Amino acid sequence: MKIIYADNNATTQVDPLVIELVTDFLTNKWGNPSSMHTFGGDVEQYVEIARQQVADSLRASSATEIIFTSGGTEGDNTAIRSALLSRKTRKKIVTTRVEHPAVLNLCKNLEREGYDVRYLAVDNEGNLNLNDLEEAMDDNVALVTIMAANNETGVLFPIQEAGKIAHEHGALFHTDAVQAMGKVPVDLSTGNIDLLSVSGHKIHAIKGVGALYIKRGTRFRPFIVGGHQERGRRGGTENVPGIVAMGLAAELGVKNLAEEQTRVKKLRDRLETEILSIIPKCRINGNRKNRLPGTTNISIKNVEGEALLLMLDQKGICASSGSACTSGSLEPSHVLRAMGIPFTYAHGSLRFSLGRFNTDEDVDAIIEALPKIVDRLRELSPFTD
Ligand code: PLP
Repeated sequence: MKIIYADNNATTQVDPLVIELVTDFLTNKWGNPSSMHTFGGDVEQYVEIARQQVADSLRASSATEIIFTSGGTEGDNTAIRSALLSRKTRKKIVTTRVEHPAVLNLCKNLEREGYDVRYLAVDNEGNLNLNDLEEAMDDNVALVTIMAANNETGVLFPIQEAGKIAHEHGALFHTDAVQAMGKVPVDLSTGNIDLLSVSGHKIHAIKGVGALYIKRGTRFRPFIVGGHQERGRRGGTENVPGIVAMGLAAELGVKNLAEEQTRVKKLRDRLETEILSIIPKCRINGNRKNRLPGTTNISIKNVEGEALLLMLDQKGICASSGSACTSGSLEPSHVLRAMGIPFTYAHGSLRFSLGRFNTDEDVDAIIEALPKIVDRLRELSPFTD
């Protein structure tokens, strides 16, 4: 069965050029960059090329502002912990209710450690109101951490403005840009962002690698302590195949950005328009103008997202749902709940996230399969309104 992969916000297919590069490193350049001998030591230059590629793709001013991590989760944890350690007298964190668990669950832990965490609300289109951020700020705020793009709805947040507000109050600003990188421009040249985390497997590199940007002059406390790697900012032998993959993927992301914003967006828009016109009682979750180009989060009334997913899966279609099975009941995700999506809609939510390797045929296949699945499930549903 042909797989129709429409779950690019979960992970992405590794780009063939990245596979070629990684294979070369696994086969021929597998030395330890810290070694004194030439075979290992020679590898270090490739780590530095990758660092420059990541810095350039984010418009950072220098490659020394980038450290390599194991992914988005480590980047988020490192950035947030470091910011708090460098602003020790301040005990407040401002974030949003719709962050990824990598940030939200850490914030919950930090509350238990004595921090006061403010979770900013979003409106029913998933938008953040900067006045709420202004109101939450005071001189006890150590850190503002706000994602660049939401993984479930694709809604974009005004991170440059949020960074300015944080700085006006002497706080540091971190953004989780895991979903934004390669899909919308990310610009660190403005100086509004102190810390930014990204992940390799969301940009057609491989799993287990990521990068953290630390603006020059920002005090930094390492999270993973060990050897002198990454100039003492992240211990552990470098994941060289992952790092070179991340560098190339970052560069390819910039090259493909225009296509993402035209071709991929067109595919997503067609998918949405057709679904809305064929399936009655469905709606799009999230601000339709200010979103990632490939993401659509659709709620279909009176059906369960999990059932939709299972039946799509039987047809080889990979998507995600906006609900999760917690303690035996299907709970809408924290993002949809924060947006106040009505219960009967929130349960039947699906996320399709398209990317570089999706085609018109993929969209056709989803449009062909989904309405029939919805009809079958609605026939079985006890709800009829
Ligand atoms: N942040 C966001 C917004 C994400 O979507 C993800 C992954 O789903 C992460 C962080 C975690 O990244 P990683 O899987 O690289 O740890």
